[in-house]
Amino acid sequence: MARVVLTGGAGFVGSHLCDALLARGDEVVAIDNFCTGRKANVAHLDGHDGFRLLEADVSAGLPDVGGPVDAVLHFASPASPKDYLALPVETLLVGSAGTHAALELARTHGARFMIASTSEVYGDPLVHPQPEGYWGNVNSVGPRSCYDEAKRYAEAATMAYHRAHGVDVRVLRIFNTYGPRMQVDDGRVVSNFLTQALRGVPLTIYGDGTQTRSFCYVADEVAGILALLDGPLIGPVNIGNPGEFTMLELATLVLELTGSSSPLVHEPLPTDDPKQRRPDIGVARDTLGWEPTISLREGLERSIPYFRTELGLD
Ligand code: NAD
Ligand code: UDP
Repeated sequence: MARVVLTGGAGFVGSHLCDALLARGDEVVAIDNFCTGRKANVAHLDGHDGFRLLEADVSAGLPDVGGPVDAVLHFASPASPKDYLALPVETLLVGSAGTHAALELARTHGARFMIASTSEVYGDPLVHPQPEGYWGNVNSVGPRSCYDEAKRYAEAATMAYHRAHGVDVRVLRIFNTYGPRMQVDDGRVVSNFLTQALRGVPLTIYGDGTQTRSFCYVADEVAGILALLDGPLIGPVNIGNPGEFTMLELATLVLELTGSSSPLVHEPLPTDDPKQRRPDIGVARDTLGWEPTISLREGLERSIPYFRTELGLD
């Protein structure tokens, strides 16, 4: 049993991580300012003995969490392109000042530290699939740079604390993760397509739809995160599902699974939108013994009831 401080604990991934940590007997102090997350994501944990939710902007410093701290997991950050493009300065600050505050908490308590980084550190990758050793292709002044560079900085800060202060760190690179508790209006492709299909309005394909992503169901992602947290590797480690789909393939599958006859419409491709993305998960598979088990079809089937409820269709 451990006492874990989790920033971004009321977010999509963070709330599932709260559930998994509590289920194995850990105590969780979740910290969130609700800028992109929701109290509703952790409302079911109200009154749970092992759970506390503190409201704070971690970029301004971490609140007093009291007691011992065994692990600090820094997951706070706007994460969907719609959110970080609307909050570019906040995104840079939570990746920089927020990461320093979280690292300091880990250092002063002798706690393990994990940074939630991202496949976006590879930018629009020229190497495919992406192994952890690839340094990436990021436009440092483009609109996505507020997120990409914040995460690259956060990784660098994490490694600096490891080298300079001996903090025991884990660098996690999450690839496109989806499932229940995503905000239905977060603008991500899975949320948009499911919402559009269920509402019977056109599915918006940006560009020609041949760009690819590799989608990981949240339960698989959380299992991988815990394997990295508990395991011996500092990382970085890619945690994602290597199944790769074009956006046209995703749209077709969503239409089939929702039974929708929505048409497809094309809209302009956002600036610097990566053309391809697929994790090389050899490190996680060989060293942590983790690999995803839930196909895109099954994960979408598990997500549809949540989206129906959120959209008031049930
Ligand atoms: P999310 O927006 O649902 O969760 C982020 C949470 O952080 C929210 O609850 C938000 O309110 C909180 N937050 C943001 N800034 C904060 C601040 N300054 N102080 C306190 N709380 C703050 O997004 P998510 O998809 O759950 O992502 C969680 C983490 O995983 C993020 O760090 C994200 O960059 C990373 N990640 C996610 C994905 C994905 O596909 N979901 C992919 C790569 C990386
Ligand atoms: N996308 C799309 N239609 C949408 C939303 C997104 O075609 O309604 C595309 C987007 O251009 C990108 C891919 O889907 O190529 C994944 O986008 P998302 O915002 O989910 O994540 P990210 O770009 O961060 O991987």
